[in-house]
Amino acid sequence: MNIWFVWLVRVPLGSTFSVRSGIPVSRTRLSRALWFDVPLEKFKNLLGENSLAAKMFLSRIAKTAFSQSSQAARIAAGNQYMGMLRKGFPSAPTYHTWLRDVIASGNGERSSLLRPADVFRVNSRGIGHTPHFQYPSADAVQDDLYSGADDARVPGLEPTKAGEKPRVVVLGTGWAGCRFLKGLDTKLYDIVCISPRNHMVFTPLLASTCVGTLEFRSVAEPVSRIQSALSGAPNSYFYLASCTGIDTHKHQVCCESVSSAGLPDEPYHFKVAYDKLVIAAGADPLTFNIRGVKEHAMFLREVQHAQEIRRKLLLNLMLSEAPGISEEEKKRLLHCVVIGGGPTGVEFSGELSDFIMRDVRQRFSHVKDYIQVTLIEASEILSSFDVGLRQYATNHLTKSGVRLVRGVVKEVLPEKILLSDGTCVPYGLLVWSTGVGPSEFVKSLDLPKSPGGRIGVDEWLRVPSVEDVFALGDCAGFLEQTGRPVLPALAQVAEREGKYLANLFNQMGKRNGGRAHCAKDIPLGDPFVYRHLGSMASVGRYKALVDLRQSKDAKGISMAGFVSWFIWRSAYLTRVVSWRNRFYVAVNWATTLVFGRDNSRIG
Ligand SMILES: Cc1cc2nc3c(=O)[nH]c(=O)nc-3n(C[C@H](O)[C@H](O)[C@H](O)COP(=O)(O)OP(=O)(O)OC[C@H]3O[C@@H](n4cnc5c(N)ncnc54)[C@H](O)[C@@H]3O)c2cc1C
Repeated sequence: MNIWFVWLVRVPLGSTFSVRSGIPVSRTRLSRALWFDVPLEKFKNLLGENSLAAKMFLSRIAKTAFSQSSQAARIAAGNQYMGMLRKGFPSAPTYHTWLRDVIASGNGERSSLLRPADVFRVNSRGIGHTPHFQYPSADAVQDDLYSGADDARVPGLEPTKAGEKPRVVVLGTGWAGCRFLKGLDTKLYDIVCISPRNHMVFTPLLASTCVGTLEFRSVAEPVSRIQSALSGAPNSYFYLASCTGIDTHKHQVCCESVSSAGLPDEPYHFKVAYDKLVIAAGADPLTFNIRGVKEHAMFLREVQHAQEIRRKLLLNLMLSEAPGISEEEKKRLLHCVVIGGGPTGVEFSGELSDFIMRDVRQRFSHVKDYIQVTLIEASEILSSFDVGLRQYATNHLTKSGVRLVRGVVKEVLPEKILLSDGTCVPYGLLVWSTGVGPSEFVKSLDLPKSPGGRIGVDEWLRVPSVEDVFALGDCAGFLEQTGRPVLPALAQVAEREGKYLANLFNQMGKRNGGRAHCAKDIPLGDPFVYRHLGSMASVGRYKALVDLRQSKDAKGISMAGFVSWFIWRSAYLTRVVSWRNRFYVAVNWATTLVFGRDNSRIG
């Protein structure tokens, strides 16, 4: 059966659940919280802004908060005094050291100004302790906590007990993690998903959101719709946090909450014990350590990246119309440079050229002759496609006004790029898309590595040498001793690995192998085998490339043009995760076709 048909008949991923972006806290502990309700001025008057008495008083607060097991005391102390401490005492770095000293010395009188209060009324959903609220610049305190000095002080989920379901901890909500979550049998397992974003991004259509062909919501699928147990099952949770470390001996992960408005300045830290751990934390954009890339270039991996690109593009278009802008500056502002001629760079360039041809010419007619797209690639564009398709893409892009430049970037400055041949390329918008490599998180893990630095796995996606740890997607690769090549960083690889691993876990769970240290003697069945289904890339203006061959030298269908574009669009429409988003995408496409792209600059 051909791949096209398979896509058409696929059933979308999962139904509904709501995501909890906070961390559950224990009501009993919180009800014992101390609320330090002292006005700043009163405190300063009483003790003097920098006096020894003040330091001793704060020392006492700090010590009280740490010595009482009530995590809420820390929360209250941190919350109420954070501003006070910062205003009245030395600024962050100095204060940091100072606070450590006072915590260590622990002198001072308990102040009568402290009064107990029942501050928080939050339902617990099983977390052992309230994630503690950090004192200002509490990294040092945190270091102590994670050094194992007093491990019990770090809040978190305890190991599962007899009678409870085994707990699977999943790191990441990308293609791999979400497909795994969708397939896991929640009658057999409780799930804890930890990720800095609460949605999956449908990456193949992300480039279309940068120019307004699609709206951002259309490519983001809440994880709650993919695995409903995360919001409904009593012992399953979603935590909006990043994993910062894994203790494979203790079977636990250390996490740090994502900081954002409404949350404390310092993140919460907590730990979660697992029976089985699935690492699906993806990869980071490759910058080859070229100076200035991280500071000045934009990446295209997340929805907020696409939002930034769209805002910048529209801002530059509007700025360039302002009176008094020189010709040279107009050209710079409207010069969009894309670095990297892989599928993502080409698709983004195609979308931009479409936007320019259709929308900019109509709605920004004063500056239409200034806007230009340049795609810079060190070797050949679309090197994973065969020579005929590459040639087609080159001709089509050139006809659409995209300037293709062969060059190697040496340095990126705020308004220009320096190439290694000495050329200087001014830009108004710079998008960096040169592939991905292991993230800092993956690099930091003390786990075996595959060639290329990903987490090394065997044929069953297990991380050998440690028990109950699995890795998949862009962050994982086969170990050299398996004799298998590292698979490409593709959604189709990640998705199929997720599906495979969910089935493997369900089989293990049915044979009572779900608990920690219990799967050693359980037969795992067939290893994971990857069969490439083909590649597609759109090149703009209703044209695309479709290559349904296993490799570029194999026999099979490969074509380019309008029919390919139609296949590309229909295939991705059927692959969009939910019916809701499928509907959004179809409506967005129809709206763009009829009315053009939306060019309001919001936010
Ligand atoms: C613009 C674009 C277009 C693409 N187009 C295609 C295409 O057409 N076809 C194709 O096959 N592939 C495509 N890809 C590649 C594809 O998206 C990736 O291969 C795929 O997303 C990999 O899935 P993953 O789950 O391994 O990682 P990701 O999808 O990157 O997900 C990683 C997850 O881990 C989370 N995470 C990161 N660090 C931590 C941490 N410390 N703790 C917890 N969670 C963490 C992230 O927030 C994220 O949720 C495209 C990629 C991009 C960027």
